[in-house]
Amino acid sequence: MSTATLLDDRCPRCGQAFHCGAQDARCDCFDLKLSEALRQQLAAQYERCLCIACLKALQQAEQAGTTAAE
Ligand SMILES: [Zn+2]
Repeated sequence: MSTATLLDDRCPRCGQAFHCGAQDARCDCFDLKLSEALRQQLAAQYERCLCIACLKALQQAEQAGTTAAE
């Protein structure tokens, strides 16, 4: 298993290439304080991680009181 920080993942929401560091020591998404509800929704909706841009967008949408579902 490579630990190289390549853009080896593709966001299932927007198709943007990115690297998820969840399998590494740290990931950018650790800085995002996603709610438990949003995490569960994402886990149910997507098989893979989303890029940071989408995570931030969904987080802001949730905080704005709108549904994060597309
Ligand atoms: Zn994305």
